[in-house]
Amino acid sequence: MLGSGGFIVYDEDQCIVRNTWNFTRFYHHESCGQCSPCREGTGWMEKVLHRLEYGHGKQEDIDLLWDIQAKIEGNTICPLGDAAAWPVASAIRHFREEFEWHVKEPKLSQQRNYGRVSEKTFEPVTA
Ligand code: SF4
Repeated sequence: MLGSGGFIVYDEDQCIVRNTWNFTRFYHHESCGQCSPCREGTGWMEKVLHRLEYGHGKQEDIDLLWDIQAKIEGNTICPLGDAAAWPVASAIRHFREEFEWHVKEPKLSQQRNYGRVSEKTFEPVTA
């Protein structure tokens, strides 16, 4: 038994902020609400990531996200809390400049992805 894990492979054109927001939507939806760090934190992360993705984010939102995920990790009854926190931590740790680009270039980030040279039309994600 080697344990378990998961990974997702994206090409360099994919939007890390959008995908992180999508993860967080899933975990917020799945949270049973029994413990407050998971119940509240997943919803807060979803809202902050939505702001960033849709061009209303502030620089402080990135640190706020980091703070929220750190308060969820290790403070919940079941592993769903950790599973919700880790993708956010990993995204900020490895792709912070992409989060910052969303704040600095809100209009451009609506038109194309960070790693993408050509213009791209987003497909709307329905809630
Ligand atoms: S960490 Fe687990 S027990 Fe706690 S609210 Fe989330 S899903 Fe429920």
